[in-house]
Amino acid sequence: MPRRIDQHTPFRGSARIRLFLFPALLFFCALSPAAEKTYQPTQAQRRLAEQQRLQNQRIAEIRRQNAERNAAKAAAAQAAEKQVKAAAAAAPKLRYTWINSQRYVLIRDIARFYKLSMIRTKTGAVLRGYRKIDLFYNKRAASIDGIAICFTFAPLLRGANGYLHEKDLLLVLDPVLRGNGLPKYPVRTIMIDPGHGGTDKGAPGRSGLLEKNLNLSMALKLRTALRKLGFQVIMTRAADLTLSLQARADLCEKFRPDLFISIHCNAAAQKTINGIETFAMTPAGCPSSSDSKPSNARGSGNAFDKNNYRLAYEIQKCLLRNTKAEDRGVKHARFFVLRNASCPAVLIETGFISNQREGALLNRADYQTKVVNAIVRGILNYRALCR
Ligand SMILES: [Zn+2]
Repeated sequence: MPRRIDQHTPFRGSARIRLFLFPALLFFCALSPAAEKTYQPTQAQRRLAEQQRLQNQRIAEIRRQNAERNAAKAAAAQAAEKQVKAAAAAAPKLRYTWINSQRYVLIRDIARFYKLSMIRTKTGAVLRGYRKIDLFYNKRAASIDGIAICFTFAPLLRGANGYLHEKDLLLVLDPVLRGNGLPKYPVRTIMIDPGHGGTDKGAPGRSGLLEKNLNLSMALKLRTALRKLGFQVIMTRAADLTLSLQARADLCEKFRPDLFISIHCNAAAQKTINGIETFAMTPAGCPSSSDSKPSNARGSGNAFDKNNYRLAYEIQKCLLRNTKAEDRGVKHARFFVLRNASCPAVLIETGFISNQREGALLNRADYQTKVVNAIVRGILNYRALCR
């Protein structure tokens, strides 16, 4: 017969006693003052507990603040993203079309892009606002604020829409309309290049005038004026010396000036022709102003297309204002010194030595000073945009 464990467990009786004793002990303990002391937290414990509670409160508060801040940040980021998307959607798109395998931009979009109003004329369009651009279909001659310019390609009319060649938008209009879009090249050192010299007399003028001498005379005056303003000036020649075009380009390469200014006088078989023109290097893929055939020829000077053009525009504008001479415009040419320049460069044809009146003016010290002051002003205007 199997044994019943309860009958034979030796501790059965004492377990019963314990069952009775345990509540009794609890009862006594609850009554005893010593037990009270044990179960009450001490002052230090209470302080600790209070500190813990405050700490938890602070942590909760910090968590709440962080969550609030993160939510605000996320909302701001979302709003900014929305704004960017809205601005992108609202920004005028420049639509283009291909004509003769060249990319042309819709003139109406160009006007909207630069926040100018557009007025159609019988022969072209006028873009108006903080600048005034007059352009004509099938003609490269145009003007910005009354200063003659020459587009590299003639604007075209297709159906009811006028189009401008993309290069003319990027490398002619944009540098003049948007000075802050110019690449920033600081101007501290300027190289002045008086055209011709020595055995190369340049264009002959009336009554024994020689271009090389007028160029040098104006260049030396320009050197003085620029030095007074704190510019460092380097001359390709400071005397009546023969200097090849390559030697001039080499000097530019060697001294690495910030600007290169070549000074010339013009000449024409037709003696009535007069006026001032300022040249910038022709952009690659475009024809020069005196040419109609585009060329892909490029030189180091092309790296500064935008700056070349704005510098030429500023100088031409100041020259016309100071001298009241005939405006022959801001033009493009691949002159050797422009093509091989290692910095923004222009070539200025200060007037026609072959024209009796202008030739005589160019030989006068006061007129030369007017020309020089205008070039200085043009450089300062350009420098202000390039800081
Ligand atoms: Zn010359």
